Amino acid sequence: MKIDILTIFPDFFRGPLDYGIVRRARETGLVEINIHDLRAFTKDKHRTVDDRPFGGGEGMVLKPEPIFECLESFDDVESRKVRLSPSAKQSVILLSAQGRRLDQMLAAELSTLDRIVLICGRYEGVDERISEHLADREVSIGDYVLSGGELGAAVIPGAVGNQASTRRESFTDMRTESFTANAELAGDGPSSTCVSGGLLDYPHYTRPADFRGMAVPEVLMNGNHDQIRSWRRKTALEKTLRNRPDLLERVVLSTEDKELLNQIKLNQIKLEQIKPAQINGKN
Ligand code: SAH
Repeated sequence: MKIDILTIFPDFFRGPLDYGIVRRARETGLVEINIHDLRAFTKDKHRTVDDRPFGGGEGMVLKPEPIFECLESFDDVESRKVRLSPSAKQSVILLSAQGRRLDQMLAAELSTLDRIVLICGRYEGVDERISEHLADREVSIGDYVLSGGELGAAVIPGAVGNQASTRRESFTDMRTESFTANAELAGDGPSSTCVSGGLLDYPHYTRPADFRGMAVPEVLMNGNHDQIRSWRRKTALEKTLRNRPDLLERVVLSTEDKELLNQIKLNQIKLEQIKPAQINGKN
């Protein structure tokens, strides 16, 4: 896969793309990432990349010309029409707070492409003609406003790379991962101890088994894979219920899941009943 990043701050990417999965993918030639300085595509003495907004208002807006010219300097980018067709293997993405929110499903979709171009906005944003006539889609990395698209662009190669190597982490949905999920449900292979299917990931522990009196859950050390699988499923459900109850509405729950959820809810009710009693006891 080839990824091109268009930015007015090329130095920003020194670092974020040099570690972990992305670094290994670059080193082995699986991914080629090129950073392009938009100022190199300006024609005036001051290398101007921004200008005041038409209609007035605060701040500056990134000009369209350098972005168009930069994209046009690539000789292997297909026409926008081809890129927008269902079998497209390329995508030109404008990072934008107004875009489709990046999630594991979109990362999975992007991981099937051969070529991704990421356009990073700055200031008040990018001249709208980029989104209307040059970019194929707008992508947001979350419901907050960043000061630039660079952070978003740095996130995408990691999410896409992880997608390829990730099978059971948080958010991995059965709809996109049905093969793996079913294989795991059927108990094939060593990773069959848990299927997170659209839930948050279960908790992980490593040695020491007892760290300053904080013990690793007993069940993880008894080697009983059925119990471990059930514990992981339960804790994944628990965490999802606590931090992201919205995900539970979308996921298909098995009979076992429903039982586990009932247990979790019953425990919560019990805990709530114990707490005031303890406080009273102390008084
Ligand atoms: N006025 C714009 C924000 C501009 S922020 C608005 O209210 O939507 C400047 C640039 O930061 C944007 O052009 C975009 O490239 C980037 N950016 C800001 N928030 C982002 C987000 N949540 N995801 C991806 N890119 C973002």
